[in-house]
Amino acid sequence: MATQADAQELAALRALSASIGLNPHMTQAAGGNTSLKAGDTLWIKASGTWLKDALSDDIMVPVAMAPLLEAVDRRDPAADKPQAFAIEDLNRRGLRPSIETTVHALMPQRVVLHVHCVDTISLAVQADGEAEVATRLGGIEWAWVPYFRPGLPLARGIAERLRPGVNVLILGNHGLVVAAETVAEAQALLHRVRSLLARPARATAAPDIAAL
Ligand SMILES: [Zn+2]
Repeated sequence: MATQADAQELAALRALSASIGLNPHMTQAAGGNTSLKAGDTLWIKASGTWLKDALSDDIMVPVAMAPLLEAVDRRDPAADKPQAFAIEDLNRRGLRPSIETTVHALMPQRVVLHVHCVDTISLAVQADGEAEVATRLGGIEWAWVPYFRPGLPLARGIAERLRPGVNVLILGNHGLVVAAETVAEAQALLHRVRSLLARPARATAAPDIAAL
């Protein structure tokens, strides 16, 4: 960690990550990942670790951001293997950064949350998902990214659709990304987007007691 402020923010992110990891509407198994940028270093959840363990285990791995983004920029397949960009001096457990590390590195904001949010995916799997989301996310700076395989293809898809100010990505057939300058703002934005995308459970018919 570069500064005490970064260390405090990383502690807040670990607490938020653990609560996201315990919510089955946002996290299934080892899916989803969170990150914090501290100077040129991206701290991101390691591959194979679970968000719910963020407070009890060391699940964050440091990655050198600039060379990774350069690899995305020149469409270098090296961007598909983010472990090559881990900062080994700070990575005593030998953790491997997620294949989705480039998703986090591309967002300019300091804190990024990526979740396989059920409310988002239920719209993002639909053929008209982009239009459906558009009717719900008025007032939010968001971008639609059609499905690409995680790694270099998804990174290129995001890079081509990011506009200045965008802090929400809807990933077609995949999930949600929110980004903010602080953990508290990212948490609030995640809550806001989920609320806007959530649909009420379909009403069920009243039972025919006599027939039962
Ligand atoms: Zn994902």
